[in-house]
Amino acid sequence: MFIGIDIGGTSIKSGLLNSYGDIILKKEIPINNSDKYELIESQIIKIIKILLDESKKVGENVKSIGIGIPGIADKDSDKVIYCTNLGWRNVPLGINIKKHFKIPVHIDNDATVAAIAENVKGVTKNYDNSIFITLGTGVGGGIIINNKVYSGSHNKGSEIGHIIVGKNFYDCNCGNNGCLETFASATALIKYAKKLIDEGESTILTKESLNAKVIFDAAKNEDILANMAVDRMVKYLSIGIGNLINLLDPDIIALGGGVSKAGDYLLEKIENNVSKFLVFNEGKTTDITIAKLSNDAGIIGAGMLQEYL
Ligand SMILES: [Zn+2]
Repeated sequence: MFIGIDIGGTSIKSGLLNSYGDIILKKEIPINNSDKYELIESQIIKIIKILLDESKKVGENVKSIGIGIPGIADKDSDKVIYCTNLGWRNVPLGINIKKHFKIPVHIDNDATVAAIAENVKGVTKNYDNSIFITLGTGVGGGIIINNKVYSGSHNKGSEIGHIIVGKNFYDCNCGNNGCLETFASATALIKYAKKLIDEGESTILTKESLNAKVIFDAAKNEDILANMAVDRMVKYLSIGIGNLINLLDPDIIALGGGVSKAGDYLLEKIENNVSKFLVFNEGKTTDITIAKLSNDAGIIGAGMLQEYL
């Protein structure tokens, strides 16, 4: 059995999983993102104790504990380097959990964890090589090669949101200009739509009403500004996806996160665009699809982390 823990901004979701990644038991504890780190750590430890007790009732050993975080972990030191929306910097989460339990502990970014979940239970299942891209407030990603997570020699890879795909009118939070995240996130889509409104482009949209769904709905209804914003996003996302295919040639790329809710409408536009950027366009190439899992993805992916190392 495995324990999977998904740390979000408002709750800790966790579960006990069997070797197929099925959730046998789920536990959730609400947290506040203003809570001190020590308090959240003690909550995590409490939740692990409960799940371990449950596993003993079933009479099976827990092989590992996996934790997904909305941030960056250093797998060598077992520390969380940062977790912006919880205010964590260099916190010893893995170290302290290992002190309490004599079980391997693995911590990884939530996009990597989501990539694993899709591979265990979702649309990339049965594929050896897959990439998951999350299009939300930012853009994140997870890469699975030969059924293992690939994050590079120094655990600094798979930063799909920060591959540079063009020149943009504003800089990325990372300090560079032209990162995929500044073209293809919900935030980017809204920023560009606002810019077009300021420039007096024709639209039924107002700056106050903007979100990704509203923009996509307006684009479907032939709104000129909304179509310009969606087309720009699709163009640069397609360049990014094209780069990934040219570099890694995976079996499949799955798109998740809030923006992916635009579904087939978005997918069709991307498929039409990506082919322009491929070096080898003949014969079988990478499938692009919308991710399937939502709520339990964090628990499943975190729980199965050890199987992907
Ligand atoms: Zn960046």
